[in-house]
Amino acid sequence: MRIGIAAILALLIILPSATFAEGDEVEELSADCALFFDGNVANESVQFQTSLGPRLPGSAASSELRESIKSNLTGWDITEKTHHVNGMTLTNLFATWNQGAGSNVMFAAHYDTRHKGDRDSNVSMRDKPILGANDGASGVAVLIELARHIPAMNLSHEVTLFFTDGEDQGDDHSTYVLGAKAWAENLSQQDADKIESFILVDMIGDSDLNLRKTKQGNDTLWNRTENTIRHIDEVCDLNDSSYFNFEDYDFVYDDHVPAHEMGIPAIDIIDIRFGEGAEAWGGHWHTHNDTADKVSAESLQKIGYILESGLISGAWLDIRVPVEKWFEKDTDEDGVFDIIDDCPDTFGEGQDGCPIEENVESQDEQDSDDLVIGILLMACILLVCGNLAWIIFADNRGEG
Ligand SMILES: [Zn+2]
Repeated sequence: MRIGIAAILALLIILPSATFAEGDEVEELSADCALFFDGNVANESVQFQTSLGPRLPGSAASSELRESIKSNLTGWDITEKTHHVNGMTLTNLFATWNQGAGSNVMFAAHYDTRHKGDRDSNVSMRDKPILGANDGASGVAVLIELARHIPAMNLSHEVTLFFTDGEDQGDDHSTYVLGAKAWAENLSQQDADKIESFILVDMIGDSDLNLRKTKQGNDTLWNRTENTIRHIDEVCDLNDSSYFNFEDYDFVYDDHVPAHEMGIPAIDIIDIRFGEGAEAWGGHWHTHNDTADKVSAESLQKIGYILESGLISGAWLDIRVPVEKWFEKDTDEDGVFDIIDDCPDTFGEGQDGCPIEENVESQDEQDSDDLVIGILLMACILLVCGNLAWIIFADNRGEG
């Protein structure tokens, strides 16, 4: 009889763990996860850009860089827009692929570099312009290398690369982000509403890459970014996503803010801890140590993969769509929600309207499940109690 009790207790212990084991199945890695962004090519661009010297608005180096960008973007529709702000001549450069196809996804990076290294440890150098390998060249390099692969993607929507000027010439919010502000001021709300998403990359070349989500920023777009990174990490098995802290936020005023304020879903992918062990807004940031040797091909590649993978999966589209896009509520009233469209695997369960399994189950089904579990539990308890009572009874009769 004691063997019987032991068996029941063992069963009670084994049952829950057997249930959990089902969810622990290891997913098979996908073999066809082809991403072509080349971090080494992007890194060569960082070296080229810094070789031009500081790219101050209106300077010869600034103009030379624009010409080089344009020569890299054959087949793209190029426009330049000039603005006169705070005594500077700013030139925003736009390159669009699939012009006229609509559903514009914008990637942005500032190509100007700061006019002063005002955080440099050498006081006499604080009024001299910096080379901006990370703060300027890294974002531009990623966009140029990404552009090389976009024609082969057969996308059915527009992609615009926005090279902003006058981002880093300021002292406070009113004097930073001047090119992006000038763009937004000349953008009608109607045109802003046609932009699907605005993804800014800035200071993403640090060889010790430490990214966090940033505010202001669009939460759906961050969820898509997080799922894209996890997709690259887990399914493609190419990267280690530990460079991204998905829990915490940094507050950053950057070129994405004017877009965000126009209601465009916008985020800023930026590492504000430049250099190994650097504090936020510390390290090499705004110093003369912002040189090409502090930037790595590996970091540029990680960011390039995120943008490329998101384009292929459609992660940068339909940010504004309502929940109903991906599933329809119980239309035939059979107590089960009817899924009308598969959730792309980079969107993630429970996000963007993709249903969570337990939410798909109707309340009635959940109630009946609860009842069955309750009855089973009661039966088990009764069995155990019955056995104990029998032992006591048997012991009392001297049969134990
Ligand atoms: Zn800066």
